[in-house]
Amino acid sequence: MDVHLFERNAPKTYTYVGRVRLDSAPYQEVQPDSEGSPRNVWVFPLRVVSGQIPVLPVAEIDQQEAKAHKVARRLSDLEIREKASRGRTQPGQRQALGVRYERDVFVAENAKRRAKGLCELCGGEAPFSRADGDPYLETHHIVWLAQGGADTVENTVALCPNCHRKMHVLKLEGDIATLRVKAKL
Ligand SMILES: [Zn+2]
Ligand SMILES: [Zn+2]
Repeated sequence: MDVHLFERNAPKTYTYVGRVRLDSAPYQEVQPDSEGSPRNVWVFPLRVVSGQIPVLPVAEIDQQEAKAHKVARRLSDLEIREKASRGRTQPGQRQALGVRYERDVFVAENAKRRAKGLCELCGGEAPFSRADGDPYLETHHIVWLAQGGADTVENTVALCPNCHRKMHVLKLEGDIATLRVKAKL
């Protein structure tokens, strides 16, 4: 009997992947249902025998990964340890479709010169220097390029790695306002 796999990448959107076979013994585990309550599920580890794993946009893969992390954060220590030790040893791979923005190096360098080695959000010193002695700061677009932001002096700031992450994880209005003022100086 042939088993065919369809992948669900968005609600009600299924993409045909190809023929699969069982890769190792099925097992049971507890997973949260759509409301977050634990339920018992059977897991069938599969391997694609023929066919093509769909090429997804990078942003979509990132979104799926973020969702998976959210689910993982709700599990108990024990569940996490169990899943972590059962995991595959080689990372999965898939082709992804991405857009790379060509950032203006002079706009980036301008933000770093303006910052003078201090993060434009927290005001702290760059956490370390590059091998050539330049303080290490990262450039960030206040309105992300992916959301139509401009690659200009007024939209580009230099941040310490911590604040840079924070801007991407929390996107706080107050921080955005602070950076807008800094970028205009
Ligand atoms: Zn900072
Ligand atoms: Zn950024």
